Amino acid sequence: MKAVILDIHRSSMEDGPGIRTTVFLKGCPMQCIWCHNPESISMDKELAFFEERCTLCGECVDVCPNEVHRVQHDAHTIDRTLCRMCGKCADACVQDALRMTGEELSVADVMETVMKDLAYYEESGGGLTVSGGEPLYQFGFTLELLRTAKKNGLHTCLDTGGLATREKFEAVLPCVDLFLYDYKVTEPDKHKDLTKVSNDLIFGNFEFLYHRDARIELRCPIIPGLNNDEVHLKNLLRIRRHYTELEALTIMPYHNTGNAKYERYGYVNPLPDTGTVSDDMLRHWNARLNPNQNTI
Ligand code: SF4
Ligand code: SF4
Repeated sequence: MKAVILDIHRSSMEDGPGIRTTVFLKGCPMQCIWCHNPESISMDKELAFFEERCTLCGECVDVCPNEVHRVQHDAHTIDRTLCRMCGKCADACVQDALRMTGEELSVADVMETVMKDLAYYEESGGGLTVSGGEPLYQFGFTLELLRTAKKNGLHTCLDTGGLATREKFEAVLPCVDLFLYDYKVTEPDKHKDLTKVSNDLIFGNFEFLYHRDARIELRCPIIPGLNNDEVHLKNLLRIRRHYTELEALTIMPYHNTGNAKYERYGYVNPLPDTGTVSDDMLRHWNARLNPNQNTI
């Protein structure tokens, strides 16, 4: 079985305990307005252009069969509507200014990379994290990857936004050691407004997993001006107090490093001026939600 893979990060320290390899799958059913990985939403291959690397040599103009690239008057322009994602320009660019995103890989291909760092996982208590996009969007692959990882004795995390059928969560439950479960906006109308989907199923799946004794770290992104309000904070406090067996409730501060990606992939950035969460704001939220932890 194959899936369209966005990226594989080795030596990750942020996607669960210990040193991990994180596999990012393409495809997501949500459209969060603050998404900092816009290239993860579509399942299609995409072409990234790193303008700062381009020397205007014109090689891509010569190899492209569809006249997508133009190098004129010290500027390189791209007409993405003509691109058929053949990858010839990326292969031809010696400056690495053009890259294709979205590679079809099998479970065996991915596991070959994952198992290279087995010694680090054993030393650090790390393992494999499957992320996205939404990793359950390419469900068959994710299930097989998690099962294979468990057969190989690895610790597994699933980094999910929670928007998938109950049956899918039921199926992955035995082969996930820790769910990194995103819960983005607690107010239903606001959730729909900011992500284009209801949070009913997402919260229902969270409760299902919780009552099946899954280990869950709830991950809550805070985006200045969108959900850093008192109502959301109080709702999260209620969750914190009610679901006492949560492994953690982690505040994920928004950062605007995704802005460059919108340009690289030719998307319109819906939040060009939203700033990064300040240390003061993060301290305030953590003081309320995690008063016993020594976090900023
Ligand atoms: S081949 Fe690469 S460096 Fe040359 S013009 Fe195209 S993008 Fe720029
Ligand atoms: S991926 Fe293919 S069609 Fe698209 S710009 Fe590059 S060479 Fe042209």
